[in-house]
Amino acid sequence: MEQLMLEMKNMTKAFNGITVLDSVNFSVKKGEVHALMGGNGAGKSTLMKILTGVYTKDSGDIFIEGKKVEINNPEDARKNYISMIFQEFSLIPTLTVAQNIFLTRESKTPLGLLNDKECISKTEELLKELGVDMNPNDLVENLGVGYWQMTEIAKALSQETKILIMDEPTSSLTKKETEVLFSFIEQLKSKGFSIIYISHRMEEIFEICDRITILRDGKYVTTEKCSETSLETVIQQIVGAAMDKAFEWQERPYSKTGTPVLEVRHLSSGTKLQNINFKIYAGEILGIAGLMGSGRSELVRAIFGIDSKDSGEIILNNKKQNIKNPTDAVNAGLALIPEDRRMQGLILDHSVKENIILPILSKVKKGQLINEAKANATAKTLVEKLNIKTDDIYKTAKLLSGGNQQKIVLAKWLANEPAVLLMDEPTIGVDIGAKTEIMEVIRELADNGKAILVISSELPELLALSDRVLIMHEGKIMKELKRKEIKTEEELEHAIQGY
Ligand code: ADP
Ligand code: MG
Repeated sequence: MEQLMLEMKNMTKAFNGITVLDSVNFSVKKGEVHALMGGNGAGKSTLMKILTGVYTKDSGDIFIEGKKVEINNPEDARKNYISMIFQEFSLIPTLTVAQNIFLTRESKTPLGLLNDKECISKTEELLKELGVDMNPNDLVENLGVGYWQMTEIAKALSQETKILIMDEPTSSLTKKETEVLFSFIEQLKSKGFSIIYISHRMEEIFEICDRITILRDGKYVTTEKCSETSLETVIQQIVGAAMDKAFEWQERPYSKTGTPVLEVRHLSSGTKLQNINFKIYAGEILGIAGLMGSGRSELVRAIFGIDSKDSGEIILNNKKQNIKNPTDAVNAGLALIPEDRRMQGLILDHSVKENIILPILSKVKKGQLINEAKANATAKTLVEKLNIKTDDIYKTAKLLSGGNQQKIVLAKWLANEPAVLLMDEPTIGVDIGAKTEIMEVIRELADNGKAILVISSELPELLALSDRVLIMHEGKIMKELKRKEIKTEEELEHAIQGY
């Protein structure tokens, strides 16, 4: 039988009498990238914290290369060649790359002084071996997030490592940075490292992982080869029965007779948007479906005043608006939740609170000063309302998971009490738990009278939310479907593909 790099058998752990890991099995081969998946609270982090000696198990056995080991503290984990890249970076921004890598064990000169030269040359060697083009003397605070990650990985690998754990390594990376990380992971794999990869992003898992182990509510569900399972199966296994319910559509009552909250008339912008007309009523969720490049994002960008319009009218509650830029849009009562939250929705280096109150600064000001009590109360209320998982409102946004970052973007716009919410792929890249929560928030907002436009490439999501769906193709609205009349996902898929 093939030698396993790591085997964890019957791992059990309880906190305050509540079992959070119930006899979980998990194993990783040599030179394998193994995804550990599960919704929020499934037990992934706890299992990894046991492996890295942060928590101690209640029972169960751990084997490294077939040999039973005891891991009671981080030192034991390191002795067993286990390293972890934390989701929350452990780097000190004001130190250099080299200083960070050798932080806890800088080489000393014979007089006991720190030997910078040796740190630097060792770092140079390490980075070269890892194939990373970085300068050991750069201050970490001057580097992009992608390089923080690389520094973090180099730090982990600067000690002898066989098992490398990555917890949501791409949650704050751009597409480009993610690609760099992936080719790097391929290299590590070919060098025989075993990598445990925690992520909620399915496409990533299927791109770089060999096998997947799924946990749900502290229990082991299954281990599958990526090549032998499918996205749908994995989602089903992660959420179990809960998902069916979250994705169930129910007809929502709202009136379509009065004045629409938003009306768009004859909106055109080059070839990207051609004579777009639609209305959204209070309490209604309008879905926009279409292929990539069909003009969905362009539509909300034009409405919101980011892109210019050639012609057309935007009417809010019977009043014609002159929206020339996003500030006009916000003042008119619109909010846009953009597709790329890193680029447009969120300031990653700012705190949860700072992000949330940004659009309402003028409302929480007392003279020149910010009324901290009011700002804190607003931020806290929204954090609670949206169930944002953070230690407190002062935590830096980039330290939160993707799902929670997306909820901050939502909270930020809700603080301003908009009448219309334009949402471009509101749940992209978030885990299935956060996804169902965000969907619930969207429904609640509509129930409270907001007019909502949702663009989504995920048809189950579109079907779960929309009261009506507009199909876009080459900048035009081709068709309007009432949700009631759409029987299956295939029907919607056909409508989208049919041009
Ligand atoms: P995941 O990483 O899959 O989201 P976790 O391992 O973080 O899940 O959490 C599993 C469960 O254990 C959750 O219900 C969480 O609240 C609980 N938990 C984790 N750490 C602690 C702790 N230190 N004290 C009490 N409960 C904890
Ligand atoms: Mg976790």
